[in-house]
Amino acid sequence: MKVKGWPRAINDETFTSWLFRSAQNINVRTFSLEMGEGYYLAIFSKNRFESDFDSDFDFESGAFGELCANRCLPEAMLSAFFKPRSAHLCMPAFRFSFCAKCIREDIRVYGLPAWRKSWCYVTNVICVQHRSLLEITSEIPSFYKPWDAFATEAPYCDPQHIYMKHSRRWGGISSKLLDLNIVIKVQNWLSELEREKYCLLPGDTSAVLTKDLNRAVGLLIKIFLSSRTRFRGPGAARCLFNEGNESIVTENLSYRESMEFGSGSASPYHRMIAILMVGYVFRLFTKEEILKIRRAAKFSGYSWPKSVEALGFYSPFFHSEDEYLDLISDFSFATDCVHERLAPFLIGVEYAAYKSKVLSDDKMKYWKSRSPIVNSSYQTGPI
Ligand SMILES: [Zn+2]
Repeated sequence: MKVKGWPRAINDETFTSWLFRSAQNINVRTFSLEMGEGYYLAIFSKNRFESDFDSDFDFESGAFGELCANRCLPEAMLSAFFKPRSAHLCMPAFRFSFCAKCIREDIRVYGLPAWRKSWCYVTNVICVQHRSLLEITSEIPSFYKPWDAFATEAPYCDPQHIYMKHSRRWGGISSKLLDLNIVIKVQNWLSELEREKYCLLPGDTSAVLTKDLNRAVGLLIKIFLSSRTRFRGPGAARCLFNEGNESIVTENLSYRESMEFGSGSASPYHRMIAILMVGYVFRLFTKEEILKIRRAAKFSGYSWPKSVEALGFYSPFFHSEDEYLDLISDFSFATDCVHERLAPFLIGVEYAAYKSKVLSDDKMKYWKSRSPIVNSSYQTGPI
């Protein structure tokens, strides 16, 4: 995309990144780094759980309209080019994931580093071009984060880093043991769901609406990445394959707030585990691929859940039946093929509610009479 007098936008670049490069372009005299910083900082006007402005993707805001009007920028063209291609966005303050090799190539080709839209998507964890898990900036994300990313020395892993408290560069499963082709397969499938209207699930003969699949994916990812709080364990993607314990978010979050904050703030590693779990629920993997995942987990000292039901069991526990019923009602839209894939997971979630001792008497009796669906060797589940 090219606006007269401004640098050409790079494919997949964020709006804020384009502003960052424009502010350093000698031909752009109407926009400075200070102005860009002011535009970016508007995201921190509230607390970290909700932002009233997203400098990368909010094209409805007065701030964006004002910026375009004052500098004669084509509002419609910019919003069409820079709009996100995914509904699953990391929270603005936690968009710290990047590919170091892409950044270095930018410096060589364009003279300045550029931030990518795809690095802001919860479901995007691998740079397919360079076949590597995204890294994390060593500084708190700011308007200058493309430079910070360039200056970040890999592997950076300071456990005291404010963002490392909620994000792990690499967790329990070694990158050398996991076949990244399997992760890329799920990532591509998720990206296809955002582009196509219909999708054929492996083994099915009739197509389903991607809108429904996307909705189910969003819910699953939030459950898998749910934050650990003082009164509740973390989601499965944060607890099953971690070295040590997951950090506690000290704010008193409801189940839904834990899901929102957890998915919006997660590291590429945790998000990678979450999308593998999504692939497991929707039966995207061949037997050989599941075997490879199991082996990678096993040789790293962990057990991949024996079944999708068992994975459902590792959902964070519930404080009340209403909390459980409220969560389950979110899946009521799912019909036919989508429901059929989700059913084993939801049985596991009901088992988690049983273990939380929040179900009605009839349901408690029903589950009491059933043998545990989770093998006793799985002791690393929710607290
Ligand atoms: Zn890359």
